Amino acid sequence: MEEDQDGRLTIRIERRGVRRYTCSGCGRRTGRVRSSRDRTWDDLPWAAHHVTLIYPQRRLVCRSCGIRTERMEFADAKARVTRRLRQQIGVDCQSMPTSHAAVRYGVSWGKARRAEHAFLAEWDRRRATRRPRHIGLDEIQRGKGQRFWTVLSDVVHGEVIGLRQDRSEASAMALLTEDLTGRQRGAITAVCTDMHRPYLNAVHTVLPTADVVFDKFHVLQHASAALDEVRRQEFFRAGAVMREHGRGKRWLLLRRWKTVRGSKRAELQALFAANRRLFKAYVLREQLDRLWTYKTRLGVLNFLMGWFKALRWQRLPEMEQLGDFLLKHIDGIAAYCDHAVRFGVVESINTTIKGVLRRARGMRDEAMLLLKLKWATARPIRSARDLMRYLTVQPLYSNR
Ligand SMILES: [Zn+2]
Repeated sequence: MEEDQDGRLTIRIERRGVRRYTCSGCGRRTGRVRSSRDRTWDDLPWAAHHVTLIYPQRRLVCRSCGIRTERMEFADAKARVTRRLRQQIGVDCQSMPTSHAAVRYGVSWGKARRAEHAFLAEWDRRRATRRPRHIGLDEIQRGKGQRFWTVLSDVVHGEVIGLRQDRSEASAMALLTEDLTGRQRGAITAVCTDMHRPYLNAVHTVLPTADVVFDKFHVLQHASAALDEVRRQEFFRAGAVMREHGRGKRWLLLRRWKTVRGSKRAELQALFAANRRLFKAYVLREQLDRLWTYKTRLGVLNFLMGWFKALRWQRLPEMEQLGDFLLKHIDGIAAYCDHAVRFGVVESINTTIKGVLRRARGMRDEAMLLLKLKWATARPIRSARDLMRYLTVQPLYSNR
């Protein structure tokens, strides 16, 4: 054991009394050693010291593989950190930047990143494949501008399944055919998505028997867009005095009434007092929320007709357009009556995805991003016991 200037401990290990070594190619054990070469692995820190292990890894002559290296029990093939350190780095990286975990364990950024990747990949490989009844196909914006990703998710368990660049029909097709097995596709009864034509085409082609359910949040987004258009009409195209009145109120107006508190509520009420039509449009948007409380298609249709009736004589062309749009898509909107899609889960997946993207700003590695999204949405660590399962320290060798 040696200590260098940085306080790093180097520990030379050797297995005593071992005559046969495991081939890394086939797993067979052999005693024919051709040569050995010192290799290093970073290991868990001890007290204030980072630790590096040195071990003379054998090159073996295997009957079926030829010359191969010895399989290491404590590390993945080609990895430069032990498996138990990989676990620690992998778990830590899910709640701190890779650079912090790298400093904590005294490894380079690249080593920490590779350890995290291996950790997540192994977790993903080992878990059971689910067969969700309901899946979601959604777009997420990446950075500024018109760049998108298409995300496929399991909206029953609230987990991301796959990720593709852009939001074309080809991307959606690839997700549905390559990221789901035939068995998984057979279990799907409903696809939750927005009214984006390329997605609808892909769903109809790949899953002809599944129903499309338009998700609540996209529908309400359309309603908010219509409300915003009313605001523009009423305040910004009506002279300087009104314009001053409506300035900077966009986000306030787009918030739901129940989430507006205190002085902001008074502000909103003052805005409505200045313009009754905006008030009417706001109320209509708020009422739309009730659409999802009906249990039958007829109920949904009746509600929407009633909503339409309230629109009459209001001279709100933007809301009328919204009404036409909703009626045109009534089948997909009312489809939730036949499929108990959990819209709350759909929304929480989106919130989680946005959080991961914010932290992973500028991440180039798509495979890594997908693994991180899977982990963040599946939330495999929910208790102290779960955490222990991932962090249990393995001995270097089992006693065989
Ligand atoms: Zn072999």
